Amino acid sequence: MRPSILYPLFCSIDALNGVGQRYMKLVGGLCGAKVLDLLWHLPSNIIDRRCRIPLCQVQNGQLWTGKVRVVEHTPPKTKKHPYRIVVEDATEQLILTFFKTFGDSLTKQFPVGEERLISGKIEIFNGMLQMAHPEYVVNAATPEQMPQVETVYPLTAGVTNKMLNKLMKQALNNVPQLPEWLDEHLLKVHQWPDFRTALWQAHHPQNLDDLQPSSLPRRRLAYDELLANQLSLAIVRGRLKKQQGRVLQGSGVLKQKLLNILPFSLTNAQKRVVAEIESDMFAPYKMSRLLQGDVGSGKTIVALLTMLNAVECGAQAAIMAPTEILAQQHAAAMEELCEKIGVKTALLTSNIKGKKRQQLLADLQSGEIDILIGTHALFTEDVCFQDLAYVIIDEQHRFGVRQRLNISQKGKNCDVLVMTATPIPRTLVLTQYGDMEYSKIDELPAGRQPVTTTVMPLNKIHAVVDALQRKLSDGTQAYWVCPLVEESEKIDLSAATERYESLREILGEKVGLVHGKMKEAEKNAVMDDFKAGKIKLLVATTVIEVGVNVPAATIMVVEHAERFGLAQLHQLRGRIKRGSAASSCILMYGFPLSEISRARLNIMKQTEDGFLIAEEDLRLRGGGEILGTRQSGFNNFHLADMSMHTDLLLTATKDAALILQQDPNLASPRGQALRTLLYLFERDEMIRTYKAG
Ligand code: ADP
Ligand code: MG
Repeated sequence: MRPSILYPLFCSIDALNGVGQRYMKLVGGLCGAKVLDLLWHLPSNIIDRRCRIPLCQVQNGQLWTGKVRVVEHTPPKTKKHPYRIVVEDATEQLILTFFKTFGDSLTKQFPVGEERLISGKIEIFNGMLQMAHPEYVVNAATPEQMPQVETVYPLTAGVTNKMLNKLMKQALNNVPQLPEWLDEHLLKVHQWPDFRTALWQAHHPQNLDDLQPSSLPRRRLAYDELLANQLSLAIVRGRLKKQQGRVLQGSGVLKQKLLNILPFSLTNAQKRVVAEIESDMFAPYKMSRLLQGDVGSGKTIVALLTMLNAVECGAQAAIMAPTEILAQQHAAAMEELCEKIGVKTALLTSNIKGKKRQQLLADLQSGEIDILIGTHALFTEDVCFQDLAYVIIDEQHRFGVRQRLNISQKGKNCDVLVMTATPIPRTLVLTQYGDMEYSKIDELPAGRQPVTTTVMPLNKIHAVVDALQRKLSDGTQAYWVCPLVEESEKIDLSAATERYESLREILGEKVGLVHGKMKEAEKNAVMDDFKAGKIKLLVATTVIEVGVNVPAATIMVVEHAERFGLAQLHQLRGRIKRGSAASSCILMYGFPLSEISRARLNIMKQTEDGFLIAEEDLRLRGGGEILGTRQSGFNNFHLADMSMHTDLLLTATKDAALILQQDPNLASPRGQALRTLLYLFERDEMIRTYKAG
């Protein structure tokens, strides 16, 4: 249950004065519907009215604040004309102009001969200084009536800064004094204010530095958020560790047989990772482990070897791929190897229906099938295993913590391995996968040729097509990836179709097309033709992004590469890095080319190291947006910035581990305060989801 001290923060904003239905919608859309959401909406700028210069030095368009004496009033001749008031400081005259304002109120506000403190934007017309509708006019004797520094928030249409400031003031007044959850020593070292003060300060910046993620109050708040996240992950992880699992320790016979028939020996990284996974499987708790390895690092063999460990124990294993094409590919590769060592595999997708499906399900239930390979169809209700002990989820970096937990609940006491080919920066591993153990294949098999990456403008497309034509007639195969237009699948599609048609005109029958809108069967037919070499050039939208393996394809052309993220480009390039043949990647860009896009393309040219690329990606984009994680169930942080607060993240991770070590039930006074912190950042929900499962 949420502690009652937090209630005022979880109130709807319509409890604040001045928030009606309409405003509720607008502000809700801008930051969220709770008082707390409002408080997480930090300022982006300030208006500084402290600066005082004489009028003779002011520039056109500048904000000017200063004391003036009222000289004379000139009422308008007609309604269309403005009311003018001439004022002056010691150096210059200034004309204040007012449209549609009555003279009465103005004579009261600006009595001739008196002094006023005013602030507003200066415009210069015909050498005359003017200010239309000053933002502030106060009596020179009471300057405190004008705010010195005004906080500016990111806004949305219909929400004014003045209004938002008013609401913030109320919201900030509602913040209770909360018990301190941070370690005393840490507070001292960083000289951080308490939470309430930090929040207040973050909303009252005094200069531009105060708006930076590096400012003291913002760092304190970021730390609070990170600690809440890391603590909740550590709690989930600790509970998983305690959860009853089974000991899966096979004889090693099947593994040895497989190793004997492989045409290569494992890399050291593969050996190490297999051992790490096995140490979890051998132990009597549920495994929950993330396996990272760049494209082509050889995750499939690792998966298979560890599945054989389960099979040796007389149990079953399953591997789930995100797409049908990938499932088929896994199935084909694994079947070929497993047949030779007497292990039975099967492929299950939603397209397998009728008698075939019935038979397959029966074989699964009787234990005839050892390893099941499939898409998410693996977890539909009618699929019953005899004894499922191990589940591998491949390429599922698009899953968040919660979804992952849901999957692991489906198998009873199942060990779970999540494999991802998208290198994830360390910070994201910590914040998004902190509930899991972690293994990384950091070495590629020997003998891989580097990919030559060329970056060129789109207007050289004819030269590319010419070169491609020569290559294709030599028997090389190639991908042609069409622009990604995120906002519209339709535009995507028409761009790909058009490109396909124009390439087909030049290159003839050997061009094929796949895109996301095709039916699975059509897609598969095209992919099969490509694999068989009947299609030489495959025009595609990003459906080929993940995991597709056609060793003879060694050329990758990406059109409008500037529209792709780094992670995507890296994945795409990975498609042609399969064999030992030299391969080339051509990134064509259109104009205008933004600074960030230019930087991305440069990085692609400079390195093939997926982890380096992932770190750069994070740096260029800032947190949150990486890997298309926006819609993915990844946590978005309100206050922490993954590219600026890395040091805090590392400290918070250690802090969380230490806290649970000293006070596993969060029972001490600090433990109680930390519980409040978990609720404050809404990390309680994750822990509850876990408990419910
Ligand atoms: P990924 O990590 O992208 O899933 P795969 O498991 O598909 O990589 O492996 C890519 C290719 O490398 C496959 O053809 C596989 O047979 C081969 N491979 C895997 N491990 C090794 C190794 N240790 N030495 C040589 N080739 C390997
Ligand atoms: Mg793979």
